[in-house]
Amino acid sequence: MDLGKPSKICRKCQAVMWNQERNNKGAKHNEPTFSLCCRDGMIELPAERHPPPYLDDLLSNGVKSEHFKKNIRTYNSMFHFTSMGGKIDRSVNDGGGPFCFKLNGQNYHLLGTLKPTDGENPKFCQLYIYDTENEVDNRLNAFPGSNEMDPEIVAALVQMMDDHNKLASGFRMARQRFNLQEPEEFRLQLISSQSASGRANHVIASNEVAALIVGNVEDESPYRDLIVETKQLYLKRVYETCAQFMSLQYPLLFPYGDDGFHLNIPLHGKPARTTKNVNIDADETEPHHRDKVSMKEYYAYKLMIRPNQGMTMHLGGRLWQQFVVDAFAAVEQYRLDWIRTHQHVIRSDLYKSIRDFIRQGDTDSSTKGQNVILPATFTGSARYMNQYFKDSLAICRTIGHPSLFLTMTCNTQWPEIKEMLKHKPGIDVVDAPDIIARVFKLKLDQLIDLIKNKNYFGKCIGGNYYFCNISRLYNIFY
Ligand SMILES: [Zn+2]
Repeated sequence: MDLGKPSKICRKCQAVMWNQERNNKGAKHNEPTFSLCCRDGMIELPAERHPPPYLDDLLSNGVKSEHFKKNIRTYNSMFHFTSMGGKIDRSVNDGGGPFCFKLNGQNYHLLGTLKPTDGENPKFCQLYIYDTENEVDNRLNAFPGSNEMDPEIVAALVQMMDDHNKLASGFRMARQRFNLQEPEEFRLQLISSQSASGRANHVIASNEVAALIVGNVEDESPYRDLIVETKQLYLKRVYETCAQFMSLQYPLLFPYGDDGFHLNIPLHGKPARTTKNVNIDADETEPHHRDKVSMKEYYAYKLMIRPNQGMTMHLGGRLWQQFVVDAFAAVEQYRLDWIRTHQHVIRSDLYKSIRDFIRQGDTDSSTKGQNVILPATFTGSARYMNQYFKDSLAICRTIGHPSLFLTMTCNTQWPEIKEMLKHKPGIDVVDAPDIIARVFKLKLDQLIDLIKNKNYFGKCIGGNYYFCNISRLYNIFY
């Protein structure tokens, strides 16, 4: 069964879609509408800009393209402002299979100080400020084992960041301040687009995205702009909801330092009522009351392919893979936080607390305390697994043993995947988890339809299926 080419274009957001992804499947002659990309026009984000010429050359077919794409994650690490706090599992990349970015544990991005601690080498955002005469060397030296890296590319990227990146220009402004005869103590405030207008007057110098704050003035903006300290004892966490969360971590995917997701992106029109994931989806609790774009919707929008716009992110190869995993972790983290703070909504009092404690006859106080319940609607949770397992048992008890037990896997050579990859020239299929997840889901739906409705193996009287692995990506974004 072939899905054919992704021949449809969403008329609202210009994303390339498969016909089978349309909402109005029944009305074959009507113009198709799509929810997967932009919720049929409710999400409107600024068009992605085309990358600066130098980066464009590196990402397409330039002389150094191959080398750059292979090492794009290292080059990005030389320029990112924040560090990644999650535990990266490198054991899967033992040289045999294709590159796979795997992240364990809780993920977070950390921001250091403007100045390195005495005796330490500058790193991350400090490289934009400290000892910039030797910037290229410093960036190369910050990565032991980076002898393979090309100093010419690093120098050109330094220039590109200076010319185009708004965040870099903010840090350069701090550098100028440090170079004064007797610099006063100051902090750097990174201003997001949402709070750029109507600001208080405590800013002494400002361009569009950054301001230097002298003295102990608190951030008065309601949007809590990110503030980089000159000195502090700990690393500051940059939250998933911060507008610069991704652009600080992926300067090569966001070469202009544009804002990413934040909590005040308006939703156009009134959302339709939906029952799917209603009680779990963080700020999607009551979609019909909501007027802001959710994090999940934002990243789902960004994951779509729009050839008429800039494709910087999609052409990032391994870095794009890392970005997708990072975004996945961010959305999941956000949901988990929501679940933790909304236990009353999911009625966890039915499960928890002293009542159970006493019933167990347990007297060990170390196990006492707030119990956070992960509901069955959270994909992969214990209750999710339990529910599917018990459903399966119940089905077996009622209608007998199953005659079919199918496990469906994905073939990366499927023609549908190759067709969509044509929109990402030069990208290997392993670096396109977004396409794989979409095609897999469409094929899975086809298979289930074949068995359940078309009675391919005889009349179907019952069944159950659940997602795992790659389709979790689908499950969380779309
Ligand atoms: Zn759309």
